[in-house]
Amino acid sequence: MSTPVRCFIGLGSNLENPIEQVSSAIEELAALPETQLLNASSLYRSAPVGPQDQPDFINAVAELETQLEAHALLDQLQALEQKHQRIRERHWGPRTLDLDLLLYGEQHIDTERLRVPHPFMRERSFVLHPLAEICPDLRLPDGEPLASLIMENPMGSLAKI
Ligand code: ATP
Ligand code: MG
Ligand code: MG
Repeated sequence: MSTPVRCFIGLGSNLENPIEQVSSAIEELAALPETQLLNASSLYRSAPVGPQDQPDFINAVAELETQLEAHALLDQLQALEQKHQRIRERHWGPRTLDLDLLLYGEQHIDTERLRVPHPFMRERSFVLHPLAEICPDLRLPDGEPLASLIMENPMGSLAKI
C-alpha cells in the first residue's frame, strides 16, 4: 500500500446556499476512499475573483491524508463538484462548488489536468488565511513560509464567519 500523503483542498461556493455547499463538501471529503480528514478551517466570506456581478464566495480549506495518487484525488474532487451540480458557464463565474487541490505533500505536479501547488494560491487571501488557521507553520514545497505569503496578502475584505 502506498504511503499516505498530506494534502490541502481549497473549497469555494457562491450559489445555492454556499454555506451548506461548503459544509457538506467537507463531510464528503472526509468520506473519500483511502482518505482521512485531518482538519478543516472556519468558513470565510470573500468578494469574487474576476467578474464582480456575482454573489460573494464562501471559502474554506481542508487538510487530508490520502493514499490516492494526485490525479485520482482530482477525479474524486471533480466527481464531488459534479454531485453538487456545478455548471461551468464562464471562467471564474459563479459556481455551486469549486474544489481545488492546493498542495499534495511536497510534490510539484505540472500535467495537462493538474498543477500543484495550485498556481494562484500564493496570491489568494481566501486560500492563504484559512490555510494558516489550520496550519500556521506550513511551508510551500519550495521552502517559502506560509507566514510570509500571509504578510503579502492581508485579509482585505475577507471575513471569518
Ligand atoms: P482557478 O484555477 O483559478 O481557481 P477554477 O477553480 O475556477 O479556477 P476550474 O474550472 O475549477 O477552475 O478548473 C479548470 C481546470 O483546472 C480543471 O479541469 C482541472 O483539470 C484544472 N486544474 C489544474 N490544476 C488544478 C488543481 N490544482 N486543482 C484543481 N483543478 C486543477
Ligand atoms: Mg478555483
Ligand atoms: Mg477549480
